[in-house]
Amino acid sequence: MKQALYLANIMFCLSIPLSSIAETYVLLTVDVESLSAGSPKKDMWGRLQGYDGEYGVPLILNILQDNKSKATFYLNVYEITKHGEEEIKRIASEIVSQNQDLQLHTHPMPMYGKYGMSLFKSSEQEKILRKGKELLYKWTGKNVVAHRAGGYLGNTDTIHALKEVGIYVDSSLSPASFSPLFKEGYNANDIIDIEGVLELPVTYFNQLKFMGWESKRFLDIESSSLNELKSVLDDMAEKGSCAINIMMHSFSITRYGYPDERVSRKLDALLKYINEHPKLTTTNTESFYKAYKENKLSCNPQPEFVPYTGVVLTYLRSWERFTDGWKNIVVALSVPSLIVIFAVGLMLINRLTKKCTRTN
Ligand SMILES: [Zn+2]
Repeated sequence: MKQALYLANIMFCLSIPLSSIAETYVLLTVDVESLSAGSPKKDMWGRLQGYDGEYGVPLILNILQDNKSKATFYLNVYEITKHGEEEIKRIASEIVSQNQDLQLHTHPMPMYGKYGMSLFKSSEQEKILRKGKELLYKWTGKNVVAHRAGGYLGNTDTIHALKEVGIYVDSSLSPASFSPLFKEGYNANDIIDIEGVLELPVTYFNQLKFMGWESKRFLDIESSSLNELKSVLDDMAEKGSCAINIMMHSFSITRYGYPDERVSRKLDALLKYINEHPKLTTTNTESFYKAYKENKLSCNPQPEFVPYTGVVLTYLRSWERFTDGWKNIVVALSVPSLIVIFAVGLMLINRLTKKCTRTN
């Protein structure tokens, strides 16, 4: 499998012309779906009890528009079985009406009874993909070109099924999530060709490293700090990577039941940073794939390059996300706790030393 991967990489590199002015393309990708106990109203539109306004997809669209930026929205269409067709159709229309990129996201559970794509045979996956593609075409007149499996649960059967239904871009490889494609031998942090399908892996970085051990983390507007996002973008731009594929969800701003301005401000700041960066260009998956097919990408893939953010940024993130779970609290308080323990230890040693001196 690994030999096939390297061969595919070499073939892919050869297909892209070398350019003296390399660009790194930033793909912001938004998975549009409801949480298991949620609803499209709350988790897609972002309408919250006790708050006026919309803090989901409409707010994300506004921030994109303010920054003249592009993004790709992967929509889970299979929720129509649970929530009805109208609400999901309207969100699809809203995204397309704002000239943003709409593609297919597969959480097949509501319609087909199993959690992830990799739990189905290739022929069943083909049926699921065909249904999703047909629904999006019916609602928007758009032929989707890209797919992301829910929970990144896409495998090589998914790749085969995608080809059968005429979708030639996939974004289900997430090495930081140990996704099925990763377990099958694909470990890339830039675009690769998998059996004729363009794979756009979810970008990841090493937050910590120690004697061969690495702690991987995928790049996400919600869970990564602005400093981590900037650091990874800078490193990959400097390296000349082709594509940086950043995650977020339609509910990233509303996950805790209130409009989380930290996330919306971070998205806005990140888009401004990309727009001002000399080596970065925001694009969407459809435009990127078009340029790829027409050999117009001015970059060479760096699938083996993994940025490293280090201890300081990891620690600072724990303070930034202090209220988002016990792990952040433990990490954030670890340094002050160690300082206190160290200071108390020093005081005790000092007292004992003085006592011993007096006794002698
Ligand atoms: Zn999802």
